[in-house]
Amino acid sequence: MIDLRSDTVTKPSAEMLETMLSAKLGDDVYGEDPTVNHLEEQSAEFLGKKAALFVSSGTQSNLLALLSHCERGDEYIAGQEAHTYKFEAGGGAVLGGIQPQPLSFNQRGELDLDEVKSAIKPRDFHFARTKLVCLENTQGGKALDMSYLDNFSTQVKDLGLNSHLDGARLFNATTKLKVSPSSVCSHFDSISICLSKGLGCPVGSLLVSDEDTIQKARRWRKMLGGGMRQAGILAAAGIYALEHHIDRLEEDHQHASLLGAGLQQIPSFSLVEPVATNMVFLEMAAHSIAPLKDFLKKKGILISSSRLVVHRDISRSDLDQVLAACREFSQTL
Ligand SMILES: *Cc1c(COP(=O)(O)O)cnc(C)c1O
Repeated sequence: MIDLRSDTVTKPSAEMLETMLSAKLGDDVYGEDPTVNHLEEQSAEFLGKKAALFVSSGTQSNLLALLSHCERGDEYIAGQEAHTYKFEAGGGAVLGGIQPQPLSFNQRGELDLDEVKSAIKPRDFHFARTKLVCLENTQGGKALDMSYLDNFSTQVKDLGLNSHLDGARLFNATTKLKVSPSSVCSHFDSISICLSKGLGCPVGSLLVSDEDTIQKARRWRKMLGGGMRQAGILAAAGIYALEHHIDRLEEDHQHASLLGAGLQQIPSFSLVEPVATNMVFLEMAAHSIAPLKDFLKKKGILISSSRLVVHRDISRSDLDQVLAACREFSQTL
């Protein structure tokens, strides 16, 4: 199967599995797993922060950020389409009593800073206390502009708010912008990154921040049942991915770009916007997506929606197959 549903579908490579098998292990709830400790230290340093926490998923990592920055009756501002707001089952509200204040992302995946400012509630007992602003990078496959981040972090600090970045695909953004991860992360108080997407790990995310925030997050993680024991077997995959799988994201971007260019040449196929990183967004009515999806499935190609996601388990020849199948589909219309 050629699986374009998401970059979460990647399988660990033989080399990654080998490093997992030889990982040194201990009980991480006691802080004694050397491989987890190594991953946490390595990632904190890499992202230019003081501490990190290895967790089961991006959802948990974002939730721990909300719970650590905010208290019951506080509020966080996030994008209407943000994962932290829309796709995490309302965890902040359910488990933290934290009210979300969603705002629309603009075309570039940014929150308008004037809108953020006007959404901040007055300090009065009628209102929730606005505490945190969350961004996402990449957002809808787009890397946020560095000049926007400069403005964002200055203003957010001036407003006395904390900031969190859902960087599930941070390295796709830094690859696209050709900047260091720490230069993006310096604009935020905390950052979540996913190891289990384009980086190819079977499991795992990291929350990166200052010591105090990570200490709070560690307590919440335990409370949520997320304390793991010999987790070094998973952390080893993360170390391997950070060392070997970031540079190759460029290849995914090239593949996505080729796929996008090829699709645009097929009658009745067009793109919503130019390909920025590893995602291709088809401009196609919802009623046309279902027949396309069924057609492709018979050819061994999986898509979930008009968003096609390229990743390390998609080769150049897979792309040719996808394009050929889409050409064939267009002839049936
Ligand atoms: C995938 C994703 C997450 C976290 O997802 P998990 O499946 O919980 O690891 C968070 N934010 C964004 C933008 C994502 O795409």
